[in-house]
Amino acid sequence: MRPFTYQKAATGRGRGPAIAAGGKGTRFLAGGTTLYDLMKLNVEAPSHIVDINSLSELEAFDTSGANELVFGALARMSDVAADPRLIRDYPALSESLWRAASQQLRNMASLGGNLLQRTRCAYFRGGEPFACNKRKPGSGCAAQEGLNRGHALLGGSESCIAIYPGDFAVALVAFEAKVDVLGLRGERTIELEHLHREPGSTPHVETVVEPGELIVRIRVPTTPLGRASTYHKIRDRESYAFALASAAVALQIDGDSVRDARIVIGGLATRPWRCRAAEQVLRGRALTPEIARAAGDAALQGAKANRDNTFRIELGARTVADALMIASRRA
Ligand SMILES: Cc1cc2nc3c(=O)[nH]c(=O)nc-3n(C[C@H](O)[C@H](O)[C@H](O)COP(=O)(O)OP(=O)(O)OC[C@H]3O[C@@H](n4cnc5c(N)ncnc54)[C@H](O)[C@@H]3O)c2cc1C
Repeated sequence: MRPFTYQKAATGRGRGPAIAAGGKGTRFLAGGTTLYDLMKLNVEAPSHIVDINSLSELEAFDTSGANELVFGALARMSDVAADPRLIRDYPALSESLWRAASQQLRNMASLGGNLLQRTRCAYFRGGEPFACNKRKPGSGCAAQEGLNRGHALLGGSESCIAIYPGDFAVALVAFEAKVDVLGLRGERTIELEHLHREPGSTPHVETVVEPGELIVRIRVPTTPLGRASTYHKIRDRESYAFALASAAVALQIDGDSVRDARIVIGGLATRPWRCRAAEQVLRGRALTPEIARAAGDAALQGAKANRDNTFRIELGARTVADALMIASRRA
């Protein structure tokens, strides 16, 4: 047994300091669908847990605003996925949520917890005797020479090639979302695209969220690119599996040609991976299957395969191309 202390987050005035107390050993508890798993695996060993479910004001979300959609960090994945305005005007956001996990998990899991979920790399979760710089800095990376079919092709380093597994963050990056976080020094805003870090030589530092900082809400600016969007997810089985490759794409089409495009890939990189070069391939051109495929190839530029995952370069390019054709039919 590893002892830890448990506290319910204080509500109302003075909330910030009470939440942030505890420092590095503190973990917030939202739905618990990832945190409990990692504690049972001895990967996470918090000394103090702050249960934030008492902060009911973080459960709300509002998709009716003229300028932005606002999602409290404790909004549940299933509630947000089923929102009629999201389904109609931002299908990529809704799809990224309902194509994740299972209905039971989505009923428990919060949006804030979803963003901060950790990699599913088996060497990270498997514990000793496997080397993992993310779990135990300096121990090495067993995936480099090990089973790496599901590992990253983009954004990896000698220290780590674990992918970022989440779906929702990939779709949020396509809409240039932001998160507001609350810490001891008050509130600050982080661009979703800069929330997750590439591993470099410090793979254990996964995000720019500081210890003790609480994600309060996610904000998505309204955009004409919403309707012609999709989150296309390819996996080993049709349901209840993480992405082998995914793409969040959003288009604005004027007449025959693409006026604006966003392409972000998931399941292939160490963080949600925005592909600006691929977006540029589309601008001002008619979206044909050939152009979509050219954008797919551009999205995978720089991909570096390991022993078992070469096939996911082609899979990734096809996923982007298919996503673009699906989104274009919604324009
Ligand atoms: C079997 C299984 C399959 C899954 N499949 C998928 C999938 O296909 N796609 C996908 O995207 N996800 C998938 N998931 C992950 C799932 O979506 C996450 O477990 C869930 O979203 C986490 O939310 P939670 O509220 O339960 O977080 P918790 O487990 O409570 O917390 C997760 C982490 O986030 C921190 N945290 C939580 N809320 C906040 C906050 N507001 N501010 C700061 N830190 C916070 C916690 O301290 C903890 O470190 C799967 C999970 C399981 C168990």
